[in-house]
Amino acid sequence: MAIVPETLSFIGLGSNLGRPFFQLKNALATLAHLRGVRVLECSSIYESDPIGYTDQPVFMNAVAKILIRHSPHRLLDILQAIEIRHHRIRTSNQNSARTLDLDILVFGQLRCVTERLILPHPQMLKRRFVLQPLLEISPDQSIPGKGPAINYLPCVIDQRCQRKSRILLK
Ligand code: ATP
Ligand code: CA
Ligand code: CA
Repeated sequence: MAIVPETLSFIGLGSNLGRPFFQLKNALATLAHLRGVRVLECSSIYESDPIGYTDQPVFMNAVAKILIRHSPHRLLDILQAIEIRHHRIRTSNQNSARTLDLDILVFGQLRCVTERLILPHPQMLKRRFVLQPLLEISPDQSIPGKGPAINYLPCVIDQRCQRKSRILLK
């Protein structure tokens, strides 16, 4: 049987409906139990204000570092299946409230634009709730085609992003 290489990937987790802490923790545990996925590390949970449509609850966010033996599109399938299992209702508004949102931030060195998947995630460097937890677990992280993630932090420093709990996986 061929050995499929592992790719280092970062996943952004978000939730602002139902029981956000529980849902983030549960999503990560689900991911950790899947064949071909190894969760290496997860950031603290951060509280952030909604962007765009602001009349909704605050968000809880985290970033996880994983090793994955699947293709990026297969990973997206996996993440969307976990969202659905957590009663995610997909609306036409990308900034609406949700029980669970799982985005692929980075997938190895891959840069791609397809109908379903853009990598690295096109908005990640404009969001403190992504950058802050990412830099917590990977301070020297470089983003394919963009350079060191830390260079982008000053641009988003005005966004509220408050660390709430130390460790998600326990
Ligand atoms: P945003 O992408 O701005 O964070 P969102 O997460 O609210 O918005 P969704 O409604 O969850 O947006 O996803 C819309 C579509 O984005 C998905 O159906 C998926 O095909 C596509 N998509 C493109 N690139 C990515 C990526 N890197 N990670 C996750 N989904 C992606
Ligand atoms: Ca998102
Ligand atoms: Ca998403």
